[in-house]
Amino acid sequence: VSDRAQALAQQLPEAGVDAVLITDLVNVRYLTGYTGSNGIAVLTGDSARFVTDFRYVEQAAEEVDRGFERGTGSVDLLETVREALPQGELRLGFEDAHLSVWQHRRLRELLPDRIELVAVHGLVEGLRRVKDPRERALLTDATELADSALQSLLGAGLVGRTERQVAITLEREMLERGAERPSFASIVAAGPHGAQPHARSREYEIRTGEMVVIDWGAVLDGYCSDCTRTVAAGEPGNKAREVYELVLEAQLAGVEAVRAGAHGRDLDSRARSLIAAGGYGEHFGHGLGHGVGLDVHEAPRLSKSSDDVLAAGNAVTVEPGIYLAGEFGVRIEDLVIVTEDGCEILTSISKELRVAE
Ligand code: ZN
Ligand code: ZN
Repeated sequence: VSDRAQALAQQLPEAGVDAVLITDLVNVRYLTGYTGSNGIAVLTGDSARFVTDFRYVEQAAEEVDRGFERGTGSVDLLETVREALPQGELRLGFEDAHLSVWQHRRLRELLPDRIELVAVHGLVEGLRRVKDPRERALLTDATELADSALQSLLGAGLVGRTERQVAITLEREMLERGAERPSFASIVAAGPHGAQPHARSREYEIRTGEMVVIDWGAVLDGYCSDCTRTVAAGEPGNKAREVYELVLEAQLAGVEAVRAGAHGRDLDSRARSLIAAGGYGEHFGHGLGHGVGLDVHEAPRLSKSSDDVLAAGNAVTVEPGIYLAGEFGVRIEDLVIVTEDGCEILTSISKELRVAE
C-alpha cells in the first residue's frame, strides 16, 4: 500500500468507518496517481483497490501507484464497490462533499444490508494540505512559468488591446512555456470591470490610465499556480494609487504574519483591519486567501469564518482586494509555502505599482 493510502487508512478509525470509497477524481489522483476521467478507489485498513473502466485500463497500468490492486468495471464504477469489500458487517465511508444524492441511492441499492453507508468529510482533502517536496517543486515551477508569461505579456503593453486578447495571449505564453493548461480562465479586468473579483474577460479595449486586474495561473503535472497583479495601463489617478498602496500594505502585513500555527481567521483579520482603517472595509468582500494544490481552491482557508490553523508545508495565497463599483478594483495575490517561522513566497513579480502602457 502506498504512503498516501496508508495515511488515509490510519484515519479510518477516527472517522468511524472500516473502509472508505473515494469518488472525487482529484482525491483519486492524489492517492493513486491516476489522471483519467473515470476511476474510484476503495480502501480498507489493509487493502487498497483502484477501479476504472475499459477505456482507461492502459493508462491506469502506467499511472496507478503499485500499492493499489487494479480492477476493471463497467462505466458505472459503483457496481464494483461491493467486490472490493470484505465479508461481514462493515461501515463504509463515502465522500459527502462529492457523492451525489442519486449516486448515494444507487450505491445503497447495489450494496447488501450488512454494509452501512457513513458520510465522511474532507479526509483526503486533509492529507492534501501539507505538500511534500515534489508537490512544492511543482508549485514553484508552475509559479515561475506563470510569472515569466506575464512579464513577456506586459512587455507588449496593454492599451488598445481587449481584455480577451490579453487573456488569450497570456494563456498562449503559458502553454508555450510548457503549462499543461491555465489553472482557471484567466481574469483580465480593466477599469470598472475590475470591481468584480471574478470578472470574465470581455471584448473591451483597455484605455489609458485604467487599472487592470490580472489573475492567472499555470498547471504543471496537475499542480496549479495562482497569482494576481493589478497593473496601471498608463499613469493612474491619485485615488487609484492610494487604493493600490493600501491593498499592498494589507498584502505585505498578511504575508508577514503567515507561519505554522497561525490561524486563518487571524491572518484574514490582520489584513482586513488595515483596509478598514483606510476607510475601505466594506469593499473587501472575499476572504484573504486559500490553499492551492491539485485544486486551485482547497484547504486551508484564510477568512473570517475559517477554523483552519496553518502548518508547515501548506501552500496558500494571500490576496486582499478593494473593489469600487463603477470605478476600479485592485487585488494583489502571492502564492506562499508556509514554514515553521514564516513563509517562502513563490511569486517573484514585483508588487510596486507597475505602469505599462
Ligand atoms: Zn487568483
Ligand atoms: Zn486565489
